[in-house]
Amino acid sequence: MSYLVSIVGRPNVGKSTLFNRIIGKKKAIVHVKSGVTRDRIYGNSEWNGIHFSIVDTGGYNPPNNNIDIIDTEIRKQILIALKESDVILFLVDMEIGLLDVDIEISKILRKCKKSILLVVNKVDNGKNIYHDTDFFRLGFNNYYCISAINGSGTGEMLDRLIEILKELVVEKKVEEIGGIPRFSVIGRPNVGKSTLINSFLDKDRHIVTNISGTTRDSIDVFYKKLGYKCILFDTPGVRKKSKISESIEFYSTMKTVRTIKYTDICFLMVDAVRGWESQDRNIFRLIEKNQKGVIILINKWDLLHNNKNCSIKRNFEIFIKKNIAPFDNVPILFISAKNKDGLYNIIPIAYHIFRKRKKKLKTNLLNRVMFPILKKNPPPSINKKLITIKYCTQLPTYTPKFIFFSNYPQYIKESYKRFIENKIRYHFDFIGVPIQIFFRKK
Ligand code: GDP
Ligand code: GDP
Repeated sequence: MSYLVSIVGRPNVGKSTLFNRIIGKKKAIVHVKSGVTRDRIYGNSEWNGIHFSIVDTGGYNPPNNNIDIIDTEIRKQILIALKESDVILFLVDMEIGLLDVDIEISKILRKCKKSILLVVNKVDNGKNIYHDTDFFRLGFNNYYCISAINGSGTGEMLDRLIEILKELVVEKKVEEIGGIPRFSVIGRPNVGKSTLINSFLDKDRHIVTNISGTTRDSIDVFYKKLGYKCILFDTPGVRKKSKISESIEFYSTMKTVRTIKYTDICFLMVDAVRGWESQDRNIFRLIEKNQKGVIILINKWDLLHNNKNCSIKRNFEIFIKKNIAPFDNVPILFISAKNKDGLYNIIPIAYHIFRKRKKKLKTNLLNRVMFPILKKNPPPSINKKLITIKYCTQLPTYTPKFIFFSNYPQYIKESYKRFIENKIRYHFDFIGVPIQIFFRKK
């Protein structure tokens, strides 16, 4: 589970400086264009073994540079950050002291029930530390003096942050439901994710508990039917008709990433009318990168004329498979979430993938199958060096990873790796499951 931490505060308190310190610049992974004065960014970080994502909510300066007003844009950013984050770092500035705008922000923050750390920045050498009583007036229990520029005090602040993250319900919840597969419905807005969840709900009276109410405000349902038990969830409510669409899109991406991380198998939903687009592929890559199982659901099939025509389906499939290769051994189902068509085998297939993903192949079986293949199709030799692979084994990892031992692992090309990957997939039926191949020196 990836946690989300936001840095909130008026302009110029040092939000981006702190952000850069926390992630270390090179670690920034994604940049999302904000369209305002600078790019909004988030990055991934880790402290004492706990991973979290952090958002710099900056990116906006009031037009007249009057830092003492709480602009509607800042308010908007804060409100969204509040809703989506697990912990807020509320930054104030020791050099300038407490401003009305800080008090305004603190009022907004206090209304929410999220954990907030008040972080007094620009305490560069500790000299101002006794003049900070003003900030007590803000009334936050967790209170840290730091210098984002030289790093002092940030370790202590991060220690506390991690403590809070560890206490979050989400983690307990993961333990509670340990062992039961977690399936999620992901996809772009309007593809029909909530409709699908509702169809599952309507269809079956055995769906009993709503175990939401945690920090993730998603609809999680416990699904139980014909021997299948799973947790089913939707990438939570992304409001569509909002003026703040840009931020919404940003958080929607964040949520998709979080949902994927939290899931065993993703149902990637695609709108049949719009077709398979680059965003769908991006989501697919995210799933693959995170080593999660996947089923592709082509929804709204009812809207396509001639939907009984098999060649349309076939062409759809071919197109998608080409686009997602080399990991193209993925189930593609054509459904109508609204009419409840084609839904019956989604869960059984997901279960199949779930089991495959956990499967550990016996080394001798793996070698027995792979050896003749490797012998018949050895890696192409390079610089007159004959490359051989002697032996392979599956690692005892959570998701399927295989190691092949070779005399010259450094010369084995990506294309050969893909060849092996496909053979393993084919012979051991790793449908819908990303697998990883490594070559090592024997
Ligand atoms: P943001 O608008 O909140 O993102 O603020 P920035 O990170 O851009 O910082 C605003 C200014 O404050 C910059 O000139 C920073 O160099 C400066 N600044 C940030 N952190 C510190 C700090 O710990 N000490 C001092 N003295 N200046 C800082
Ligand atoms: P979400 O944003 O992905 O959760 O999408 P929704 O479930 O809110 O659906 C968006 C719109 O698509 C709604 O108007 C649904 O009624 C419609 N919709 C969803 N599934 C289907 C389907 O299978 N066929 C048709 N024709 N419309 C659908």
